Amino acid sequence: MRHELFEFLTTDLQFIRGVGPVLAARFNDVLGGRRVLDFLLHTPAYIRARGVTENISTATAGDVVTVPLLVKSHKQGGVFRGRRRPTQIICNDKMGNGVVIQFFNVNFLDYWLKKLPIGEWRMVSGKLDRGARPTINHPDFIEEMQNADKIPAIQAIYPAGEGLTQKTFSNVRDQIFNALPDKLVGESDSNVTEFFDALRHVHYPTGADDLLPNSTYMAKLAYWELLAHQSAIVISRRNRNDVRNRRAPRPKKYDLMGKFYATIPFELTGAQTRTLREIFDDLARDVPMMRLVQGDVGSGKTIVALAAAVKMAESGAQTALLAPTDTLAQQHFAKIKPVCDKMGIVCDILTGRDKGAPRREKLISLRSGRTKIIVGTHALFSDDVEYKDLGLVIVDEQHRFGVSQREALRAKGANPDLLALSATPIPRTLSMTIYGDMDVSIINEKPAGRLPIITTKLPIARTNDLIARLKLQIDAGAKVFWVCPLVEESETSDMTAVNARYTQLQKIFPTAGLVHGQMDKKQRDAVMAKFADDNSDMKILVATTVIEVGIDVPRATIIVIENAERFGLAALHQLRGRVGRGNAQSYCILLYGNNISEVGLKRLDVLTETDDGFAIAEQDLIMRGTGELLGTRQSGWINYHFVDYARHRDLFKLAASAARDMDAPDSWTRDLMFIFDRGVTISA
Ligand code: ADP
Ligand code: MG
Repeated sequence: MRHELFEFLTTDLQFIRGVGPVLAARFNDVLGGRRVLDFLLHTPAYIRARGVTENISTATAGDVVTVPLLVKSHKQGGVFRGRRRPTQIICNDKMGNGVVIQFFNVNFLDYWLKKLPIGEWRMVSGKLDRGARPTINHPDFIEEMQNADKIPAIQAIYPAGEGLTQKTFSNVRDQIFNALPDKLVGESDSNVTEFFDALRHVHYPTGADDLLPNSTYMAKLAYWELLAHQSAIVISRRNRNDVRNRRAPRPKKYDLMGKFYATIPFELTGAQTRTLREIFDDLARDVPMMRLVQGDVGSGKTIVALAAAVKMAESGAQTALLAPTDTLAQQHFAKIKPVCDKMGIVCDILTGRDKGAPRREKLISLRSGRTKIIVGTHALFSDDVEYKDLGLVIVDEQHRFGVSQREALRAKGANPDLLALSATPIPRTLSMTIYGDMDVSIINEKPAGRLPIITTKLPIARTNDLIARLKLQIDAGAKVFWVCPLVEESETSDMTAVNARYTQLQKIFPTAGLVHGQMDKKQRDAVMAKFADDNSDMKILVATTVIEVGIDVPRATIIVIENAERFGLAALHQLRGRVGRGNAQSYCILLYGNNISEVGLKRLDVLTETDDGFAIAEQDLIMRGTGELLGTRQSGWINYHFVDYARHRDLFKLAASAARDMDAPDSWTRDLMFIFDRGVTISA
C-alpha cells in the first residue's frame, strides 16, 4: 500500500485532469517541483470570504462581493479614435441598483458575452470598484443561478505565480484530495493518516485562523517538517563524524594554486582570502569538509568555489559544481571555463539538455578522471554518471536543494568534501539551526570599486516625475529595469496593470521591451538577450518577477520596482541585486501604492538605509517577529513550507531534541524525510 501512496505523491502534475505539460511547467516554477507532493506542500496564503450580498449599495470599494445580477445590456469595447475602451456589461442587482461588469481584455469577448446573456440572472463574484457606478472588473466567478454554490463561501487563496489561476489551483487540489482516500486504504501507521488529514484541513480552510502558524494543523505540519529536517541534519552529522568515514588528507601531485592566483584578473578581497583559508584548513583535516559560504549577491563566491576546485585538482581529484537551474549552470561555466583553459584544467558542463553521443562522451571523460571540474544541474547525480575520484562537491544556492540531494551527489564519491554556497543571507541567529551540520564562512565584503546602490522610495503618484528623470538618464546611456509584481490572486488585473504600464512607457521609449511569465520561453529569452546586448536600442525593460534569477546586465544601472510593498524584503533585495553589477553608480527606486501601511513604509526604509543582506535579514526577522502578518514561511529567506521560525521556536527545540535522541530513523521519520526532502532518501 505504502508503495501506491508514494507512487501517487510522486506523480507528475501533468497527469492531473485539466493540467497537461504547459501548466505543469508553470506549477514547477511556483512550487519548485511538479509532483503531487509539491502541490500538497504549497498551502494557501489566506482565505477570501465570498458571502452573498443582495444589495450592492451595502458594499464598499475594495470589498469582494458575490451578488446575483440581472444582465440588462452589452456595450462592446474596442479601440475608438485611438483610445481603448473596455467591454461593459450593464446589470442590476435585486434592489435595482446598477452594476457594471468590465472586461479590458478583448480577446475572449464572445466567451464573456455568452456567459452573461441579456435578460438572465447570474451569480457574479469579484472585487468591487466604485467609480461613477459600482463596477466589477474581470469577475473571479460567473455562474448560472443553479450553480451558484460553485462559488465557495470561503475561498482558499494560493500564492499563485504567473500563468496559474486560483481556479486551476482549486481544481488540482480537489482532484488530489478526491483521489487520496483510496491511496490511504489499509494504512496502518496513524502518523500517515494524521499527516494527510492535517494537509486536508489547511487546503480547505474554514476560517482565517486555520492558516495561522499556531493553528492545530499548521503547527502539526510545522513540527513534522522540522523533524524531517533536523533528522536529516543529525544523520548527516553522524555520518560525517563516523570514524569509518574518515579520509586521509589528499597528497599534492601538481602545483596549481600559484598559477591560479596569477591567472585571475584581480586580487581576492580580504573576506575571500579568509574564507579560502578556512576551506584549505578543512581540506587538510581527516574529517570531510562541510562548509557553507554565505555571501551577498556579487560578493564573489564563484571565484572562491573555483579556488577550492583548483586545490582539489592539485591532488588529481575531481570537483562537481551543482547549480539549481540550467541558466545558472551555464553562467558558472562561462566564468570558470576561461580560467581553467588557461591553467590546462579540463572543465565541462552537464545538464538535462545533454543527450545522446555528446553526453556519452562527457560521461566517459568524467569516468576516466580526465575532466577535473564538472558544472551542472541534477544531471550530475543521475544514475549513469560515474566519477573517477570525486573529491569535492560544491552546491550553489544551497537552499534550493534538500539535504538529501546534496548527499545523493556526495554518494558518487568516497566521503568527498562539501562546499555549499548561498546568496541568501540568513540571520546569524538562524544559521546554526538551519545549517546545524555545517561550518559557516561569511563573505561580508564586496570587491573594491563597487558603489553601494542608492535606494529611494517614491509614492506612485510621482510616477510622471520619475519617468521624466529616467528619460534624461536613458538619453545619457543608462539601461533600466522596470519591475511590476504579478503575484496576487487577481492575476488578470495584475496583468492588465503590467500591460498598461508597458503601453505608457512605450509612448515615451518606443524601443521598450516586455517580458513576463506567460510568454513562451524562447520569446522571453530573446527579449532579455536583446536588453542585455550593449549595442541594441532597447534601453528599458518592463518585467514581472521573471527577471529575479539568471539575468546579468552589467550596463543596467537603474531598477524601478512598482508596488514594492507587495514584495518581501528578501525578494526586493534580490531584485535590487540586478543592478550595481558594474562600476557605475546604480539606483533602485521603490514605487509604493496608495494603501501602503505604516509598517510597510518602515519595511521599505530598511532597504533605503542598508545594502547589507545580513542586516536586512535580521531586520526582516525582527519585524516579522513583532506581529506582522506575513510569516518567515513566505519570507524567501528559508525554504520551509510550514515552519515559521519567528513563531515556531518551541517546536524547533522539540524537533531538534527528538532528532538528537533518535537511534536510527523509524519508518515514519524516513517517510517524513522523503516528503520534505524532495524525494531522495538519505541513508543512515
Ligand atoms: P556571487 O557571489 O554573486 O556569486 P560572483 O562570483 O558572480 O558573485 O562575482 C561577481 C563579479 O565580481 C564577477 O564578475 C567576478 O568576476 C567579480 N569578482 C569576484 N571577486 C572579485 C575581486 N576580488 N575583485 C574584483 N572583482 C571580483
Ligand atoms: Mg553566484
